[in-house]
Amino acid sequence: NMRVEVIPCLQDNYSYLIIDKSNNSACVVDPSEAKPIMNFVEKENINLKYILNTHHHFDHVGGNKNLKKKYNSVVIGFKDDANRIPEIDILLEDNQIWKADNFEAKIMHIPGHTTGHICYHFFKEKLIFTGDTLFSLGCGKLFEGTYQDMFSSLKKIKKLSQDTKIYCGHEYTLQNSKFCIEYDPENTKLKNKITEIKKKLQNNLPTIPSTLKDEIECNIFLRAKDVESFSKLRDLKDIF
Ligand code: ZN
Ligand code: FE
Repeated sequence: NMRVEVIPCLQDNYSYLIIDKSNNSACVVDPSEAKPIMNFVEKENINLKYILNTHHHFDHVGGNKNLKKKYNSVVIGFKDDANRIPEIDILLEDNQIWKADNFEAKIMHIPGHTTGHICYHFFKEKLIFTGDTLFSLGCGKLFEGTYQDMFSSLKKIKKLSQDTKIYCGHEYTLQNSKFCIEYDPENTKLKNKITEIKKKLQNNLPTIPSTLKDEIECNIFLRAKDVESFSKLRDLKDIF
């Protein structure tokens, strides 16, 4: 029985605590910085056992070292990024099930943003932590991978159950929505989603989690039919 806590970090990053309600132990996903995580952990008396990284960028691993030092947490990430994820202890493979205590997640290798990007699919709870690959109403920039890499990675995520909750690495949703509506102006579900997003932000709430259903209906990058149209959209977004 898990609950997820959203921890805002840096400018627009989100780190997440997945907390086992039965014993108050937790995993943190992508700690951008240690301080906000420590504040929450101390306040709620949480046992921070695991640090899960989606990829090696500093705004996703910046807290690894200090959190590990303070709580003796175990750092987990993709095997190919062993040399660029600070303090890594456990090396994961594509399609592996990572299991520890009551935590259980399937690892999916989803390159495109970086070559070693993975997501953590907590299939029992239907939660997925997508880092900088799938954003709400957007997708990550292609820093290391190809258009085909990213298109295939998004396609993998699309196959999951539609009621899966999406937890991504940044609060980019409103900005992303402007691009979606520009190129998909007749999409009624998108229009409704934008109203919801604005309401949340006005109340100082995160727009995350989204759901896979919402993203399939509203996210123009998930709606792209083939890699050609996906590539065109990705280029247009870069200059938007
Ligand atoms: Zn990144
Ligand atoms: Fe990032």
